Amino acid sequence: MVRNSKVNQVILIILDDVRAEHLFKLINEGKLPNMRNLVENGISCSNCVTSYPAITFPCYGNIVTGSYSGYFPKEGNALPLYHWLNRKDPPSTSKKPPFIRNYGDRSQLLKANKDIGKNVKTIFEQIPEGNILSSSCFLFRGAYFVVGKSVYDVEAIFKHLIEAFEHPETYFPNKEVPILSVGYVFQTDDLMHELGFDHTNYINLIVECDRYLGSLMNTLKKTGYYDSTAIGLISDHGNFKAKKIVDLEPFFQEKGLIPYNPEKGTGDFDCNIGSMGFFNFPGDTWQHHPSIQQMQKFKVSGKGKQGMNLFNTLWEIPGVKYMYYRDDENKPEKGIIHIEYLDKNSGKKRHGMIEYRGFGKDQQAKYTYEGNDFYQYSDNEKSAKILDSKFHILEEWLEATNHINFPIIIDQIPRYFKNPRSCDIIISTLGEYGFNYDHGVTQSASPFIHDIGIRECMIVPFIIGGSPEFPQKELKYCKTTDMVPTLLELLGIKPHSSVIGKSVFNYP
Ligand SMILES: [Zn+2]
Repeated sequence: MVRNSKVNQVILIILDDVRAEHLFKLINEGKLPNMRNLVENGISCSNCVTSYPAITFPCYGNIVTGSYSGYFPKEGNALPLYHWLNRKDPPSTSKKPPFIRNYGDRSQLLKANKDIGKNVKTIFEQIPEGNILSSSCFLFRGAYFVVGKSVYDVEAIFKHLIEAFEHPETYFPNKEVPILSVGYVFQTDDLMHELGFDHTNYINLIVECDRYLGSLMNTLKKTGYYDSTAIGLISDHGNFKAKKIVDLEPFFQEKGLIPYNPEKGTGDFDCNIGSMGFFNFPGDTWQHHPSIQQMQKFKVSGKGKQGMNLFNTLWEIPGVKYMYYRDDENKPEKGIIHIEYLDKNSGKKRHGMIEYRGFGKDQQAKYTYEGNDFYQYSDNEKSAKILDSKFHILEEWLEATNHINFPIIIDQIPRYFKNPRSCDIIISTLGEYGFNYDHGVTQSASPFIHDIGIRECMIVPFIIGGSPEFPQKELKYCKTTDMVPTLLELLGIKPHSSVIGKSVFNYP
């Protein structure tokens, strides 16, 4: 195959849960000499915007596909969140109630490969021919050789990447080195939740990854592949520390709201909450999303108050600053997401709207509000310009909001709610409170979380280096869905039509 390519091989390393500011600080302090080498001899961005919410799914799935959640019967990668309820459009008529998907359950994790939409392609599937290595990826649809179906240590993840160049014959019958290798380091995320982003063990693990990266680079040099290989490095999201941790189990008990039981199809609500909460309620049945009126006059199954206004009830959760919910008339191609928020000055509840139309790259979104602009876009000259009550595409939101809190959120919220698997009401405490409550149970008291739209969560590192073919370039901004099309361009391969990101070589 003749390709107009800059390199013959690409290697992508995804470090889970690393903020751009933390990684670049360590690089500047000289603690990550090999990553520094990639930055100094390649393309880098310390202002790469991930998808919203800043949770492993959707973020990691979006990196690997170069697309976002969406109305997956038609477009989008179908992975709305780490937790979701299997509701369909139109609603299933099955007597069996919808299951709860929870990728935090190791036995369900690899089901992501089945859950992912048929209208998108993973990076593995976008490579037309050649050997492909997935080292420890959860999402590996299309990879010819897959390792990491069980829990590997970090050294093993890199060892496979190295071995595939030293001894390709152990992996591939044609004895050729892989054209694409992807290594996914999830242990950084485990340590962040357990110990925090400032803990020595977490930082040391990033330093360790740098050392293994150095071994990989040495192997590429030794085997003569370095000059023809691009190495990409990215993270799925950042993180933050919640100010207060509260156990929500007593709150729901007091309200008489019973958690959903997917085996029996009973219960009033399903939710998972870090600092943001994603609530599902039954409509006509659990297969149906409820209407706004059904949520305003909710029929509680237990001893709770009949005709409960769920919106008011959720506002009683400590620290809630805003909520999102979809309009009853929404269609995949056009609709409204309602925003309720507390006015900073008056403390009164206000209403805003995100209107959307179109799909994929062409999706446009418009943001209007009463009173104060909740996102504070109006406080900044550049972002204030986009508050013109007009529809804008993702690239315009990115250009206008990449430098402030809540980057590209107006584009992202409709992509989430269009997905039939999305929840009915989102709440957020904006990091003031953390709850760690999933499906009826408080899981932990760790204040180290990631989900909200602040920069600490939304801005990740983006680095591509290796081959001396690359120009040295520092990008002002980019987005995580740009990684796949950039690596494909380096290989001389056209990305699949579902890819929403663009090659970073096309940025000014
Ligand atoms: Zn993650």
